[in-house]
Amino acid sequence: MTVLLDFRSDTRTVPDAAMRAAMAGAEVGDDAYGDDPCVLRLEEAGARLLGKEAALFLPSSTMTNLVAVLAAAPDPGTRLLTGAHTHVARMEDVGMRRFARVDLVPLVQGDDGAPDADALEAALRSGARAGRPQVVSLENTCMLHTGNALELAVLDRLAGLARSYGAHVHLDGARLANAAVALGLPVEKLAAPADSVTFCLAKGLGAPAGSLLGASASFVDQARSLRLQLGGTMHQSGVLAAAALSGLSGVSRLAEDHALAAALARGLASVPGVEVAEPSCRTNIVTVRVRGVSAVELMRRLGEGGVRVLPLDDGWVRFVVHREHRRDAVPVVVRTLAEAVRLRTVLG
Ligand SMILES: *Cc1c(COP(=O)(O)O)cnc(C)c1O
Repeated sequence: MTVLLDFRSDTRTVPDAAMRAAMAGAEVGDDAYGDDPCVLRLEEAGARLLGKEAALFLPSSTMTNLVAVLAAAPDPGTRLLTGAHTHVARMEDVGMRRFARVDLVPLVQGDDGAPDADALEAALRSGARAGRPQVVSLENTCMLHTGNALELAVLDRLAGLARSYGAHVHLDGARLANAAVALGLPVEKLAAPADSVTFCLAKGLGAPAGSLLGASASFVDQARSLRLQLGGTMHQSGVLAAAALSGLSGVSRLAEDHALAAALARGLASVPGVEVAEPSCRTNIVTVRVRGVSAVELMRRLGEGGVRVLPLDDGWVRFVVHREHRRDAVPVVVRTLAEAVRLRTVLG
């Protein structure tokens, strides 16, 4: 087997030398007492980046989404409206139902990954008619949906619709930095339509752990208390915050991941029998499928060739490109996929 190329997720990035040096030298306090200087600096930088009054450092984006929904929807029976193929609907639904006591309402998503506006409006209308509090969670980039970056106009329109029904607008922007870089917009512009926003530090930016919640100062105050209740308050977390601050300086570097993903998409599309999804604004994700081969089988065959991917629905598998990958990975992956397709032909 050749070198192992891991395309399962950009959470597989590991701290680089600058990040490790920042961690080693981090001045720390105790964030439970609000006096960890690195955490305070990170939260200030996060608020600026996201264009919100305040930001809160949390251990993961899953907890950030949960805290945001709990802060926006303190009453049980709140409706949580989100695309059926979002991280919230697919990976966080059990926790959201159990801990936030929401009714999760999955919405049809269009080809761009945005929830269908008519479906959203119908859901908002029926919730409003029943007098139920509602939260709309948008996702950018759309991680199970080709990694497409949603344009600002799309987010504005959907957020405006949600707000016209009195709903809280949350943006799961775990990869919002990727969307911003791909669209050539500041992160804060893309966060502006949302009342609260999740921003992951441990994906393409490479921090070992952590996520930011950006919102109004009063919302972040509530979130801080919810974080404590959930056991998400950490102590010398300045060590992690220092790594995250180092990661934040690498937002523009994500363009290199996007260029490599584009090269990978072109290379994979050259293999006969392979379908490569073409999002209107590609970021660091490439999804492919091969007719007659299930996603799990395709994953297995690629894995035998040293290339690791994750299976999605409808036969698609997902490659997530990140800074651990180099240009010379592209021909290796293309060869490995060609071999996997050839096997299909040989085996009938
Ligand atoms: C990765 C991801 C999350 C969860 O992030 P963790 O830090 O692993 O909990 C949430 N939402 C989206 C869109 C993601 O891509």
